[in-house]
Amino acid sequence: MKAFTALPLTKPMIENLETLGYQEMTPVQAGSLPHVLKGEDLLAQAKTGSGKTAAFGIGLLHNLNVKRFRVQALVMCPTRELAEQVAGELRRIARFKHNIKIVTICGGVPFLPQQISLEHQGHIVVGTPGRIEQHLKRKTMNLDHVTTLVLDEADRMLDVGFADSIEMIMGYVPKHRQTLLFSATFPKPILDLSTRFQKNAHQVVVDVEH
Ligand code: ADP
Ligand code: MG
Repeated sequence: MKAFTALPLTKPMIENLETLGYQEMTPVQAGSLPHVLKGEDLLAQAKTGSGKTAAFGIGLLHNLNVKRFRVQALVMCPTRELAEQVAGELRRIARFKHNIKIVTICGGVPFLPQQISLEHQGHIVVGTPGRIEQHLKRKTMNLDHVTTLVLDEADRMLDVGFADSIEMIMGYVPKHRQTLLFSATFPKPILDLSTRFQKNAHQVVVDVEH
């Protein structure tokens, strides 16, 4: 196990991680964070409960500019419940960063409040691909300033039929960006996603489900 202090993070970040009880990195965090912090692409496989949210979240939040009122990171998840969990974890990790805005955009809830929330510009959007696609088509969301894109639980997103939405969304984010792909399994469709949407992705494989 490695301490978070081994990473080039700010003091407020380290102190907040301590208050959350995070002292040592989990294996997927130790394997991922050095690449995430450098802005590199990553293809990571780890089972549920291994700390994947912080494995991308700490790096993403470190690299984010709070003074820039633009969506800088987009995190896609397979379900509303997972998106809300991820948003909650990102907010805990970002507690020391005042004025940071993390917006959740999921289906099954009214469209208009999301639209209003997006008009006020979030720094991070976390959501499900279907509703994100709808906002993009209606031009109620702008992803022109995204620097990091995360596909969380990518295998489950494909299982629930989000392949077409993901494909569509890729046309709305800048080509020059960091793409982080997290999945519990690496079947061919996931490797194909990586080939199509990532550049020189580092592979991290830990705690695999059997
Ligand atoms: P996964 O996405 O891999 O299923 P999560 O990111 O949801 O896992 O994390 C699982 C739990 O572990 C969460 O409650 C989270 O707060 C906690 N956690 C994450 N990283 C650490 C750490 N380095 N030390 C202690 N607890 C952690
Ligand atoms: Mg997760």
